[in-house]
Amino acid sequence: MGSENLYKQLLPYLSMKSNKKSSEFNFYEAALVKRTPIFKECTNIVVGGGNTNADILFVGEAPGRNEDEQGIPFCGRAGKNLDKLLEKINLTIKDIYIANILKCRPPQNRDPTPEEIKAHTPWLLKQIREMKPKIICSLGNYATKFFLAKTDVEEMKNQPGITQVHGKVQDIEIDGTKIKLIPLFHPAAIIYKRNLEPLWIQDMEIVKKYCKNN
Ligand code: URA
Repeated sequence: MGSENLYKQLLPYLSMKSNKKSSEFNFYEAALVKRTPIFKECTNIVVGGGNTNADILFVGEAPGRNEDEQGIPFCGRAGKNLDKLLEKINLTIKDIYIANILKCRPPQNRDPTPEEIKAHTPWLLKQIREMKPKIICSLGNYATKFFLAKTDVEEMKNQPGITQVHGKVQDIEIDGTKIKLIPLFHPAAIIYKRNLEPLWIQDMEIVKKYCKNN
């Protein structure tokens, strides 16, 4: 394979590097992120990772310490769990794209605030408009409630929690793109609650089924 081809193949994995100072981030949605106090405290903006041409988007909550240092989503302990679970349904990072509700790590990994979610999710929605995924797997309460609330942050508090809705496929629409939402437990939750693992495996079988139907 010629080097140009290889470059083209790799391009989707490389687009939008995570870097706080990148001159690529000169658009409106990035400016909203940069105005939040957590931007000043973080090391990297964690844009996302994986294949931007994939049909499946996984959405987590926010970067943790490792993700903040390396600029890569899910590269810490939760990420190891996610890799293991993806492997069970024969998927790798090359088959999916992964991003978070927040682009910057909240100090001490505290919960995201509604103001931060309002300021950071326009960038996620821009990624969704560009990627047009067929399936979104929301990881944990924050991502799930954001999509169940039809991206209205004020409505998130009125949505059911992940324990009630995990594995229940929902039809959603974002800017005209029809998407299957598959809520999943957050892979970090499995580190502390091992009893969730069999439920996660069951839910991943649903993801597998929808991937096949694509
Ligand atoms: N947890 C998340 O929700 N996202 C990450 O990127 C890492 C841990």
